[in-house]
Amino acid sequence: MLSRKQTPRLAENQQCDTYAWFSQRAWVEIDLGALSDNVHQLRSLLSPHTELMAVVKADAYGHGAVTVAQTVLQSGASWLGVATVPEAIQLREAGIKAPILILGATHTLEQIHAIAHWKLQPTLCTPKQALIFSETLEAIKFTDSIPVHIKLDTGMSRLGTNWQQAGEFVQLVQRLPMLEIKSIYSHLATADSLDPQVMIQQHQRFEEAIAQIKALGIKPPCLHLANSAATLCDPALHYDMVRVGLAIYGLSPAVHLRSHLDFKPVLQLKARVTHIKTIAAGTGVSYGHRFIAPHEMRLAVVGIGYADGVPRNLSGKMQVLIQGRRVPQIGAITMDQLMLDVSTIPNIQEGEIVTLLGQEGKEEISADDWAEQLNTISWEILCGFKHRLPRVGVI
Ligand SMILES: *Cc1c(COP(=O)(O)O)cnc(C)c1O
Repeated sequence: MLSRKQTPRLAENQQCDTYAWFSQRAWVEIDLGALSDNVHQLRSLLSPHTELMAVVKADAYGHGAVTVAQTVLQSGASWLGVATVPEAIQLREAGIKAPILILGATHTLEQIHAIAHWKLQPTLCTPKQALIFSETLEAIKFTDSIPVHIKLDTGMSRLGTNWQQAGEFVQLVQRLPMLEIKSIYSHLATADSLDPQVMIQQHQRFEEAIAQIKALGIKPPCLHLANSAATLCDPALHYDMVRVGLAIYGLSPAVHLRSHLDFKPVLQLKARVTHIKTIAAGTGVSYGHRFIAPHEMRLAVVGIGYADGVPRNLSGKMQVLIQGRRVPQIGAITMDQLMLDVSTIPNIQEGEIVTLLGQEGKEEISADDWAEQLNTISWEILCGFKHRLPRVGVI
């Protein structure tokens, strides 16, 4: 019998049926209240005319794009940012009408068709791409012009035309039929760094580009530069819109930016104990017997593994929370299961809920903790949870 203690309330619009959810071995819990609150807090940093774009690429950083998009749009975000055309179509198919910027590069006939059909807004990175868009839209006899966003490279060395050619590029796009420049933007490479030097340089280059455009007699459209870190660290970087990802999910881009607001992590990772046994001193645990029990111990098997996105490199290093207490994971993490030393929790039962990421009482394990152990960043941790794990919205 599975334990039904610690049962969070399901969100009203949750499509997941309750029985199926109780029978889950593992799942990702999405706290929609926390998400909404994080967006409100971010909004409070912005001037009233600065728009908030919620970046929901990569399935909303693993949180579930549709539910996240619906919630953030109700909480003060007015734009959505995605990486790819299919990500945008998923939102449109769910009935979301807000403007959607595709942050990645698009070129193909199929992509341009979809952008026009679904009323999506592409990023234009080069004059060549602008020409392809303009010619393709004419060729398919599309009747309206489409809103486009000019991307400048001010130092990220990723997408975009070099900031020094901003004037030329904007002028070219302006002259092309079928394209209407909706915004001009750039992306910062080091906004989360303690050393502001590169960010200051990128900011200056962005300003130079704007000055060039103005000198040509062109009134700058919507301008945007800031990601989460820049939004938190300097209002001078907000311009007309900010593009916020990580912070809406309740994590901080850097330790020194943590004090700003009281963000709450939106995602919790949970699984159930599926089996409990006592093992004798000297017993090896899991593949390779990397762990040998130093004394008799109680061992719990949990129904989650690396195929769900728990990184195998955390084997023997991670802890989880059970009944508000920290418990060590032992032995190699396997594809679908992992083992715990639960000797300190005598009353543990099969079906009991284990928190791998999240808060129980005073104890908390965050994506930042995993990122630190794995020498990576919290963004990668959040994006790592696989679709085998249902996303369950709770309020
Ligand atoms: C992903 C992305 C963002 C959001 O970045 P965060 O650091 O998660 O806030 C903003 N702008 C662009 C262009 C991006 O690709």
